[in-house]
Amino acid sequence: MQATTLTPLRNKVDSFESPDFYCIDDLLTAEHKLVRSAVRNFVKREITPIVEEYAQRAEFPMQLVPKFGQIGVFGATIPTEYGGGGLDQISYGLMTQEIERGDSGMRSCVSVQSSLVMYPIYTFGTEEQRKKYLPRLAKGEMLGCFGLTEANHGSDPGSMETNFIERSDYYLLNGSKLWITNAPIADIAIVWARNDQGKIRGLIIERGMEGFSTSEIKNKWSLRTSSTGELVFQDVQVPKENILPEAYGLKSALKCLEQARYGICWGALGAAMECYEVARRYALERIQFNRPIASYQLVQKKLAEMLTDITQAQLLCWRLGTLKNDDKATNAQISLAKRNNVEMAQRVASHARQILGAMGISGEYPIMRHIMNLESVSTYEGTHDIQLLILGAEITGMPAFK
Ligand code: FAD
Repeated sequence: MQATTLTPLRNKVDSFESPDFYCIDDLLTAEHKLVRSAVRNFVKREITPIVEEYAQRAEFPMQLVPKFGQIGVFGATIPTEYGGGGLDQISYGLMTQEIERGDSGMRSCVSVQSSLVMYPIYTFGTEEQRKKYLPRLAKGEMLGCFGLTEANHGSDPGSMETNFIERSDYYLLNGSKLWITNAPIADIAIVWARNDQGKIRGLIIERGMEGFSTSEIKNKWSLRTSSTGELVFQDVQVPKENILPEAYGLKSALKCLEQARYGICWGALGAAMECYEVARRYALERIQFNRPIASYQLVQKKLAEMLTDITQAQLLCWRLGTLKNDDKATNAQISLAKRNNVEMAQRVASHARQILGAMGISGEYPIMRHIMNLESVSTYEGTHDIQLLILGAEITGMPAFK
């Protein structure tokens, strides 16, 4: 018997258009729409045709890094004098939405580079550090990672053990960081460590520094296109000019996470939109009992709930973006949107999987990849429950997690 062959995803036309049930496009500027369309076309051209293959192989498509640089998604909100895009927060959000529509692993790479590497260098760094690193990071000539989590300290990074002591002309760094996006392929790492006085500071560690090594975490079922790993520091002599002078205490690291969580709010929306659109088209074409399955009430209920979910999340993102543009978005507001939108995307992806039946688990469609990816998105940058506890603390004034 001959095996059935599935049409590879790369041979399919990616005709994605985002749903816009509440005419949210009317709230966007011409620049926002231009940015979105440029990144959407990039995803159709560069990510869709290869992503399934890379996910199956659990490999990061390294060739995309300079291309991300060329289309300006690295450091989109960083001022142009440092090589950034000088764009507003809604443009940045739309970029992450489009990229995660393609794949969460790709968006993770962009979020880390923009929000967790370029942002701290720009915000807490010296002028020399900004000039040395930001233009190269923006062009994708250099890739960065962000080391906060440790094997024994995830939700509670304030208890970190990685530390450095001051010597006459360098800092001596020891410890390790686990679950670090881009770690195996990064040229630099923003590393959070405790000094002699127990204060948490940020350091820029460069690949090649003696005693600094990285390794890759294998066998992930989620974010398979993303390279995740460990950072190990054994008596690394870090030049004193590599400390971020304005980063004091855990709050500086958390400020970076706030930027990244903001990108996730939009990114999760992108993943949900892709699942919805794929399911809608599939339901219109798939015939069972002589009728398209889209004509059955139970399928329509799922599609209606998916669109309702997506529309609410779109409004949340847009409003959060305007607050962020005015520098008014609070940590708790961002936590609310991250938690809501990731859970929303998981719900939408799960409905999509059901609508596609057996095809829902096939790599011919992107649904299962999104479902698996969203498991990580729900955990990193603060778990689903930690976001809830941040909100709880805001509501009651009583932090439940400290
Ligand atoms: P734990 O902290 O052990 O939590 C386990 C469970 O306990 C969770 O459900 C949590 O919500 C719950 N819990 C913990 N404390 C409380 C409490 N007080 N009250 C109620 N419930 C609680 N980190 C980085 O620094 N840089 C990166 O680039 C990075 N990339 C990542 C990429 C991937 C693919 C993944 C999976 C993780 C990444 N992380 C990264 C780490 C991530 O941020 C942590 O996994 C996350 O903060 C949770 O930590 P943990 O896994 O140790 O879980």
